[in-house]
Amino acid sequence: MKKDPHNESKRWRSGPTWNTVFVPNASTITELRQAAASCKACDLWKRATQTVFGEGAPNASIMFVGEQPGDQEDRTGHPFVGPAGKLLNEALAEAGIARSDVYVTNVVKHFSWTASERGKRRIHKKPRYSEIQACRPWLEAELRVLRPQILVCLGATAAQSLLGREFSVNRQRGQLVDSSLAPYVTATVHPSSILRAPDDKSRRLQMRAFVSDLKKVRQLAEKRRAA
Ligand code: SF4
Repeated sequence: MKKDPHNESKRWRSGPTWNTVFVPNASTITELRQAAASCKACDLWKRATQTVFGEGAPNASIMFVGEQPGDQEDRTGHPFVGPAGKLLNEALAEAGIARSDVYVTNVVKHFSWTASERGKRRIHKKPRYSEIQACRPWLEAELRVLRPQILVCLGATAAQSLLGREFSVNRQRGQLVDSSLAPYVTATVHPSSILRAPDDKSRRLQMRAFVSDLKKVRQLAEKRRAA
């Protein structure tokens, strides 16, 4: 029988201590969000507008973890509100999962960007390994407070930082992975990858595959609720 990681006393070990900021032993996401607002544990805060902490239902059983806030998320302070967030909403609706029933967050909480050639746009820049590690205590704190039943990594950055560098989203998407992070852990693509599809046909195919992965998540949640 699968062990419930939420009952394991050693479950919430401290992560590596790149983070020099105190992560409070808070009991609510609101307290964590307030504390993270002044985090300066890595350099990403310097060029970002604000910390974009996770958001969602306080009793969400499903947690989605992406890579980082994007341009619109950085401006508004809310995760998954830009084009990728809208596509995630569409896919969740198609899969029968209410956005209000889930919690969404990222492996880093500040926008990592570089200026476009003409300097007019802020282009997404993949966060460094050290930045992801620095931010890890915040994600661990979110997991500790929320205790989701199902953890879904969106995209390679989230999957590899949480499930190991060898994890391949292409090969292993939609599969359950043995992990101490939550009772059920899986990964799929990041919705932004669907937005980058070269044409309508491949976009439709990628969207269908994404929705299919999310339907498995919904079925798992239903099975878990019925147990
Ligand atoms: S990205 Fe994370 S660790 Fe780095 S400053 Fe922002 S909240 Fe702190």
